[in-house]
Amino acid sequence: MAKLIVGLTGGIGSGKTTVAELFAEKGIELVDADIVAREVVAPGSLGLQKISQHFGENILLSNGELDRKALRDLVFSQPEQRHWLNELLHPMIRSEMLRQLDETCSSYAILVVPLLFENGLDRLVNYTLVVDISPQEQMKRVAARDDVSAEQVQRIIDSQASRSDKLSKADDVIDNHGTQSALIQQVDKLHQKYLQIAENL
Ligand code: ADP
Repeated sequence: MAKLIVGLTGGIGSGKTTVAELFAEKGIELVDADIVAREVVAPGSLGLQKISQHFGENILLSNGELDRKALRDLVFSQPEQRHWLNELLHPMIRSEMLRQLDETCSSYAILVVPLLFENGLDRLVNYTLVVDISPQEQMKRVAARDDVSAEQVQRIIDSQASRSDKLSKADDVIDNHGTQSALIQQVDKLHQKYLQIAENL
């Protein structure tokens, strides 16, 4: 297992994926919470079995995969069902993330989690790294990337920890208001820092 685990987070559209790829290009291994969240409900998984037992086979698409949209709609309007689902999936996601981190062997590893602070997963990492962006720029970038309305983006932003909350909890911050090359420079600097910390552990 990598000796040092860095938790990378930031609001929707802040640039987490872009930053994670820059670290990956340096040979740093990533564990991505969004990917893990899909893996624990993949066809054949215990997670999918429990969900289809609980909600019925209608929650499956014809190819046997989870109908994520149907599930999202279902738990959106029913807090007790959302609670049931979170109680099922959060421990599964957490233990699968730990299992994957355990398999990493780069000098340090990065755990990419959109809701790192919100879900208390900052406890799993040694350092937290927040990709920071203003709400205005966030709105612009998400609108350019995804086919979503301004209201939908605003709802997602409102459901996540505020910018100031994330910044106050961050050990390190990447300012992503600038160009791609400004981003690369910040990643290079942090990479050197994390290498040095990992070496001295
Ligand atoms: P997240 O994973 O946090 O949702 P992404 O890495 O997907 O964010 O970035 C959101 C969008 O903004 C993507 O389309 C990405 O290409 C773009 N983007 C990221 N960084 C910059 C930047 N510095 N300047 C302009 N666009 C950027």
